[in-house]
Amino acid sequence: MSSTLAFDADLTPNAANFSALTPLTFLARTALAHPYRTAVIHGPLRRTWGETHQRCLRLASALRAMGVGPGDTVAALLPNVPEMLELHFAVPMLGAVLNTQNTRLDAASMAFMLDHGQAKVFFTDAEFHERSREALSRCSVSPLVVDVEDPTFEGGERVGELTFDELMARGRDDFTWQAPADEWQAITLNYTSGTTGDPKGVVYHHRGAYLNALSNIIGLGLPQGAAYLWTLPMFHCNGWCFPWAVTAVAGTHVCLRQPHPEPIFRAISEHKVTHFCAAPVVLNMMINAPEEQRRPFDHTVTVATGGAAPPAATIAAMEKLGINIVHLYGLTETYGPSLVCEFQDPWADLSLEEKADKVARQGILSLSMTDMMVANPDTLTPVPRDGSTLGELFVRGHSVMKGYLNNPQGTEKAFAGGWFHTGDLGVWYEDGYVEIKDRSKDIIISGGENISTLEVESVLYAHPAVLEAAVVAGPDPHWGEIPCAFIALKAGQAASEEDIVSHCREGLAGFKCPKKVFFVDELPKTSTGKFQKHVLREQLNV
Ligand code: ADP
Repeated sequence: MSSTLAFDADLTPNAANFSALTPLTFLARTALAHPYRTAVIHGPLRRTWGETHQRCLRLASALRAMGVGPGDTVAALLPNVPEMLELHFAVPMLGAVLNTQNTRLDAASMAFMLDHGQAKVFFTDAEFHERSREALSRCSVSPLVVDVEDPTFEGGERVGELTFDELMARGRDDFTWQAPADEWQAITLNYTSGTTGDPKGVVYHHRGAYLNALSNIIGLGLPQGAAYLWTLPMFHCNGWCFPWAVTAVAGTHVCLRQPHPEPIFRAISEHKVTHFCAAPVVLNMMINAPEEQRRPFDHTVTVATGGAAPPAATIAAMEKLGINIVHLYGLTETYGPSLVCEFQDPWADLSLEEKADKVARQGILSLSMTDMMVANPDTLTPVPRDGSTLGELFVRGHSVMKGYLNNPQGTEKAFAGGWFHTGDLGVWYEDGYVEIKDRSKDIIISGGENISTLEVESVLYAHPAVLEAAVVAGPDPHWGEIPCAFIALKAGQAASEEDIVSHCREGLAGFKCPKKVFFVDELPKTSTGKFQKHVLREQLNV
């Protein structure tokens, strides 16, 4: 007899040994163990875990009183304020789905999302009142509009009939919530940026959110009581699942409306921030911040960076500031982080620059993922692990989206062949680590040769006068495409086109060096710090 049968016979899942995974369980546990510990800091406001737990229950009951129930969508256009954190618990407590919206989007995109997600409630902030009003006038749905009144923000106007506090007054303290019966149940809805058409609605489930939160805790070494600074927008992939991760470790959420260097350094110093997440562009702002914006600190600080490739020069400069770097890679479709550049022991003996080169690679699977490959996108045949053959990155795992809302064709395409197609091109090294070279739509093909824009940018960042650099394809009658660089220089620094090109020639093959260099005051960026390369390409094509 097979022993498997003996292990399976009579040993079935039941309420005692099996339940749906959900990150919502973290909240009650933390409130029980640490009711008096500070859960939230926002300007002068302090709230404990006991208070935060109670507020989430009250918010859930108030939303229920307004008719929100299982499968309903609650949209939020909010900065990193305590209410945004509370919504991450209260909305899914009702079996409803939280749709956090990008605060930089235009009214037309917001209206599209409200309609596509069929929002029943819309939380907004005075800062965005004009776009909120316009979006509401354009969309077909008529959500209940709730204004979050943030005392740290001056100006703006109310948009809706109800304020957050008025809504809370309609709630009850004795509310009890039901965990989802099925961990596959949707928890949140996040829209992609939609630069190539209408945004796609990425649906997350409770299980993925739970596992990615735990994976973050381990990947970042988040300790009990971590002080976590909200530099990353909470609307972006639900803050990479950190609202749930930080709650699980009974940490402190230090809120921040705008990721500027001065308040970041101040929060690190005043609140003894131990961890934060930030796109490379934010790190760059910190590195180049004037002396008067910096504050000394003598405790260990770790930043997880990702969302775009961090140049090795940026990684090395952060380490010089005394901040440890963990490099993560991911997409909206993977709940944020899906790869981590796990630090290998022998790297500790390398020079700062060599170490930065290693850490600049995107790495290997995070713990919530199960498989990855760099492969030919047509045949799904893995490329050799030679560090040079280009292929597309494919991943599988527990924190890959359920799929796109009301978009079966898009979902099928994204999962064709049983892999999630990332749309990113990279190379695979012998040690199993991946290095992303470009998004497939950004790579430059010049005279038949591939040029990785990230590689050229990384060399540009090593020039002492360069603050920001983005490389895009420009049209060329002979080569088809040529690399063109857009550069913002550091304050008080000068460099000519010749300086830049000759610097590139020292580190790059001739065909990869920018053929045109444009100096600009600032590069166009998305709210998550990615350069809007399509905007730069359009400038070259006119
Ligand atoms: P958007 O399409 O709006 O930028 P995402 O936030 O989902 O939305 O962006 C995911 C993309 O960001 C990835 O496909 C990849 O191109 C890029 N990216 C994310 N993290 C990294 C990283 N560590 N290194 C290089 N590129 C990254």
